[in-house]
Amino acid sequence: MDEKMKKIISLAKRRGFVFQSSEIYGGVEALWDYGPLGTAMKQNIRKAWFNMFVRQQSNIVAIEGAILMHPKVWQASGHIENFTDPLIECKSCNGRFRADHMIDGRFVGQGEAKEPNQCPNCGDRDFTPARNFNLMFKTFLGPIQDEANATYLRPETAQSMFTNFKLVQESQRLKVPFGIAQAGKAFRNEITTGNFIFRSREFEQMEIEYFVKPGEDEQSFDLWVEKWEQFFLSLGLRKENLRRYEHPKESLSHYSKRTVDIEYKFPFGWGELAGIANRTDFDLKQHAEFSGQDLRYFDETTKEKYFPYVIEPTAGLDRLFLALLCDAYEEVEGGRSTTTEAAKEKETMLKFSPSVAPVQVAVFPLVKNKQELVAEAKRIYAELQQKFSCQYDETGAIGRRYRRQDEIGTPFAVTVDFDTLEDDSVTLRNRDTMAQERVSVKHLSDKIDALLFRATME
Ligand code: ATP
Repeated sequence: MDEKMKKIISLAKRRGFVFQSSEIYGGVEALWDYGPLGTAMKQNIRKAWFNMFVRQQSNIVAIEGAILMHPKVWQASGHIENFTDPLIECKSCNGRFRADHMIDGRFVGQGEAKEPNQCPNCGDRDFTPARNFNLMFKTFLGPIQDEANATYLRPETAQSMFTNFKLVQESQRLKVPFGIAQAGKAFRNEITTGNFIFRSREFEQMEIEYFVKPGEDEQSFDLWVEKWEQFFLSLGLRKENLRRYEHPKESLSHYSKRTVDIEYKFPFGWGELAGIANRTDFDLKQHAEFSGQDLRYFDETTKEKYFPYVIEPTAGLDRLFLALLCDAYEEVEGGRSTTTEAAKEKETMLKFSPSVAPVQVAVFPLVKNKQELVAEAKRIYAELQQKFSCQYDETGAIGRRYRRQDEIGTPFAVTVDFDTLEDDSVTLRNRDTMAQERVSVKHLSDKIDALLFRATME
């Protein structure tokens, strides 16, 4: 595995961002638990997405659908028939691979085979013919485990936005164009996993189904590609690490007229971060047919009844999380500071945008054995907690405490020192510039607010 990835995975574990699921039992492949900092950061990403695409829009509303749905949904959507990957198996070591991941004799994302068409595990060349493997996890509703009660964990959040299309549109009195948004879990029994949280069997998606009048779909598609990309940039991802990939017509999903992926340059190579698909009226028509319900939209002005077309921008929250970690990761050989005892050591930083940073402000008393300093620092900490996500730390030298915060990407640190007791001001330190300024305690909260706002706008 790539050295940078190894370091990121190790930092993520050590500082409580991401742990392997069930680690005390040896872990489970491709399942991950988010620790306290990871959970906070995920919430920030979800919130930023919700703010931009739901709260600040007048025609996009959110739902939270059930993960288990009526089995017919998956027939209608085409997932039972088509949601498959081509599986091949090495006849020598029984290693299983996705045939479509073998490009020019190289298994993408799984290390390179030395020679074309060799198994990356054992080097053999003899594979079974490809067979279609359905990626959905099957389960049963109720106590009787027969086919009549079989259903699946949803492999995408999209379908409940289609099955609820009419209920949402009528209850909210929405007019086309409008969107339904959803962030939630999806499950895929992936054949090949790896690259940390990039491809896991349980993950979270943030999706919008945007319903438009047929004929207006192509223009809407282009706009959504722009908006989606803008969202990633607004969270701080570097432009040069993003690119678009237009799917060739022959490899489009069964429902899609056009798909553009937004890819990110991960340390292990370019990988899909998000996508925009023109799903046409495929899903609504299918669900109308399978359910026997009229799912057409009635335009009150023109008195027309039609199936809207659907533009679907989708993004993987976990992949975005990984992209943000990779983008923010920086090592400074010899450290940035020359005055602290921690100088000369290699320094690791996460330069997160304040909008996603799990901790926004750290609060320290200069020393922990002076009652008045500790009391004042704790008072300031309690006050700032009302507005920002904060961490209090009194252990170790101040330089070390700054470094601990730099390593988890905290943009601001406040130090309460002896002068604070005289002049009611504190030191506010900026993670990126290391600049320190005195700020009066009275104005501290507003000052941080303004800095956070400015940083999010940059
Ligand atoms: P891939 O080609 O990587 O398998 P996909 O094209 O099947 O992905 P979509 O069905 O378009 O993926 O899913 C939408 C988004 O969900 C993807 O852009 C990705 O960010 C995320 N995603 C899909 N599968 C996984 C997974 N196994 N683990 C984590 N995120 C995933």
